[in-house]
This record gives sequence, C-alpha cells and structure tokens, in this order.
Amino acid sequence: MTTIAPYFLPLLALLLPLAAFSGWYIGRRSSERSRRVGVSELSSSYFRGLNYLLNEQPDKAIEVFLKLAEFNRDTVETHLALGNLFRRRGEVDRAIRVHQHLIARPNLSNEEKTVALLELGEDYMRAGLLDRAETLFTDLVAMDAHVPSALRHLIGIYQHEKDWDKAIDHARRLERINGESEGPVIAQFHCEQAEQARAAKNFAAAQAHLDQAFESQPECVRAYIVLGHLEAQQGNLDAAAQAFERVATLDVDFVPEVLPPLLDAYARLQQMQRAERFLVDIIERSHGVSPVIALAKLYASTRGENAAIEFLTRQLRQRPSVRGLMTLIGATLHNSQGEARENLLILQDLTRKLIEGQAMYRCNKCGFGAKAHHWQCPSCKTWGSVRPIHGVAGE
Ligand SMILES: [Zn+2]
Repeated sequence: MTTIAPYFLPLLALLLPLAAFSGWYIGRRSSERSRRVGVSELSSSYFRGLNYLLNEQPDKAIEVFLKLAEFNRDTVETHLALGNLFRRRGEVDRAIRVHQHLIARPNLSNEEKTVALLELGEDYMRAGLLDRAETLFTDLVAMDAHVPSALRHLIGIYQHEKDWDKAIDHARRLERINGESEGPVIAQFHCEQAEQARAAKNFAAAQAHLDQAFESQPECVRAYIVLGHLEAQQGNLDAAAQAFERVATLDVDFVPEVLPPLLDAYARLQQMQRAERFLVDIIERSHGVSPVIALAKLYASTRGENAAIEFLTRQLRQRPSVRGLMTLIGATLHNSQGEARENLLILQDLTRKLIEGQAMYRCNKCGFGAKAHHWQCPSCKTWGSVRPIHGVAGE
C-alpha cells in the first residue's frame, strides 16, 4: 500500500462529513428524481474524488471536491479542508479566498467561525502578512477561542520580529494555560536579549537578562556561554573560564563552541596546566575531535612537536576523523621534504575537499543541515534542536 502524503490528510478529513451528507442527501432526494443533479451523480463524484485522492492526484481531487463544495454551500468542513489543502500546496491566495468566503457566511456557528479565523490566520502567516495574522490571533485570544494555537502562532510572529518582550509575555501565558513548562524557550528569548545588550556593551543589562534566563532554566547551556563571553569581555577571566567549564559539564556537545574562548582565557590566566586537565577530562568522556586537536596543539608548545604528533596518531586510531587527520598532516609537513612532502600536500588538499561544504550540524527535529550552529533551527524554528554531527567527517 502506498503511504498518503501529508497534504491529503485534510481532504481525508472531509470524507467523513461528506459520506454522512451523501447518505442524508440520498434519503432526502430520493423522491425528487427530476432534480438537475441526481443522487448517483453526487455519490459518483464523491467516490471519484476519493479515488483521485487515494491515487495521489490532488489536482483532480481538488476539482471534484470544489464542485461538491459549490453544489452544497453548507459544507463548512469541505471548505475548511479545501482551504487547508490549498495552503499546504502553497496556493495561499486561494486558501485565503476560501477561508474569507467561509467567514463571510451569515449562518456560521461560533465554533465554525473561530476555526475558519484560525485557518485564515495561518494563511496570512504563510503569505508573510504577519500584521494581519497578529490581529487575527490576538482577536482569537481575546475571544477565548483556540487560545493555545493562537498563542503559539503569536510567539512565532514575535520571535520572527525579534520582539522578545512580547514573545516572553505570550510564552508565559501559554505556560499558564497549558500547565506545561515553556522554561527552556523563554530562557532562549532572554539569551537573545542578553546577546543584544552584550553587543551594545551594556553589560549590566546583559547580566540582568542572563539572570532571568537562569530563572527560567537553571541549567541553560546558552546562558552559560553568553555569561562566559560577558565575563571575558569585562576582563573577569576566571569567571569566564568557570562559565565555559560549566557548559562542558552540562552538555559535552557544546565543547567545540566554547573551546576557543576558554583556551584563550586559560592562556591569559597563564593556567596551562588547568587547560591540560580540562582537555584530558573532556577527551575521556566525549567522542569529539576538537579537544584532541586542542590538546595536540597544547602538547606541541609544552612538550614539543614530536610528542604532539605521537599523541595525535594514537588518538586518531581510536577516533578516526578527517579534521584530526588534517591537523596531523599539518604538523608532519614541517619536518618533511621532497616526495614525502608532495604526497602530504596532495593528501592535505584531499582532506580539505572532503569536509568542504559538509554540514557540521544537524537539526534533530527536521534534519536540516548547517555549517554553523544556530540556536533556533532556520528550517523548523525549533529552539535548541541543532546539534553537532559526530563521525569521521564531523566533530
Ligand atoms: Zn529543524
């Protein structure tokens, strides 16, 4: 059996009411055989539409169901399903027309009307008409109708507009209504504010936003990363190092993000033994290659080039990595001449090409691949779902 594409679901939803309607219609019309549209014609249209739908021929299915909706102007469900289908297919203008047409009906129940408003709001979102969508969703919240959905859309609008105060406010309202914690997402919003303040060198405001982030999520990795940068920026190197070390304790996946500023803090504090202890510990409890490369560089300066190469070779046997190999080639190039050097250069070029253009991060919600880390997935807009890719070509 073939699987049904997602955009067929709304049409499937209209099969049930239409089936019921057909039965009612057959009963009502059985004595009116002189009518222009006969029973058999309606039910055959219905089954033809169903057939197109199951054969994944959405265009023909739409045509048939549009005629059905036209024929019986009371079929609200049909309109809703059609509008939804148009939107999912990217035909937003048609979706908007269907939903506006539906809302304009005088005999609509309150429930039907608010459902249509919610759908229209989603059409506006898809069309990029965020102002109109915001008004509709705000109205729905005021009407106490579909509040969780409307609030989620409003949060989406405010985070798109980077209006973090409103995003936080609405996330808190959603939390109160649903009884489920939005803490991690609210913490991200506070981190966005902290980043903005830090960029403007408004350190006190940045710290205040971070305090709120920690209040929303005490173990917020991002808040510790921002805190580390904030402390380093103000010259508090030990506090910076502590914040970055905390990141490694909370989530070892973020070590590559904090390694450069952390190693910089250690260097400026002249605490290279602390750096070595930290790296050895991380290598023991993670599979990433970044700490291995960092420790090899540290050994190169403290124990000499040969010790570094020996360490790197030993580690690469346990965790094969293209990036590790590139570092090893770079280190070996110094001491090689002639043909060996030529071969190493070819190998270096090859490894570079291998990881060039490779996604280093992937969203574990939608599979979106990225070369840089994003706190919010650019594709599915989920917060905190983009993670480093492990493996030979990755971290
Ligand atoms: Zn995603």
